[in-house]
Amino acid sequence: MKILVSNDDGVYAPGIAALAEALSENHQVTVVGPDRNCSGASNSLTLDRPVRVTMTPNGYYSVNGTPTDCVHLAITGMLDFEPDIVMSGINEGSNMGDDVIYSGTVAAATEGRYLGYPAMAFSLMGPNFDYYDTAAKVARKLLAHVQKHPIAPDTILNVNIPDVPIHQINGYKITRLGYRHRAEPAIPTKDPRGRTVYWVGPAGTEEDAGPGTDFHAVRNSFVSITPLQIDLTRYSAMDELNEWIEKI
Ligand code: MN
Repeated sequence: MKILVSNDDGVYAPGIAALAEALSENHQVTVVGPDRNCSGASNSLTLDRPVRVTMTPNGYYSVNGTPTDCVHLAITGMLDFEPDIVMSGINEGSNMGDDVIYSGTVAAATEGRYLGYPAMAFSLMGPNFDYYDTAAKVARKLLAHVQKHPIAPDTILNVNIPDVPIHQINGYKITRLGYRHRAEPAIPTKDPRGRTVYWVGPAGTEEDAGPGTDFHAVRNSFVSITPLQIDLTRYSAMDELNEWIEKI
């Protein structure tokens, strides 16, 4: 297969090399990633300036843009071939629950999906990141499985992997996104001139993290696979809102 690999941690991150090298054994892999860490970039595109592409010493395309730029440009004009699938990651840190809205890792997969290709996003649970090789083996296995047993074409697979040796993985679970408490407060500090600046605070703790969720699966040493869709419409509110708008 021809595989387009991207990420949001940047082309020099260990996770993208682990993914690309694992897939290269049996496939033709092209890596197009951002030239720096873009975690939290979500689905942003660079529209206010041109984007430049350079090659890294190991043959990866390095783009001074966002993860979405990488996949968008790769598919819409930069590369002279069409990939069979877009694979994103392996992210340094899980992307579960509300994280997927902010994630550049998931966004790179989403962009592949938008442009018509199957897509998967891979994230390794923190905090130590000792077992990228476990995540890479999982990615290779899921790719082989999807080749043999294709899934619905409009589905993005969001895969989170526990940071343990492969023999300690208990199996695979299809999960739904959990839910976090609201984010921790912003952290104020001073710049060198004494003015107040802020760090965005950490994500909230897990709120909805019971059986069936991504949080629960990974905490119990299962690989979590959550199917994602792009349509954010809240269908369950439509009937009520149709009545509500009648009264305007
Ligand atoms: Mn990241």
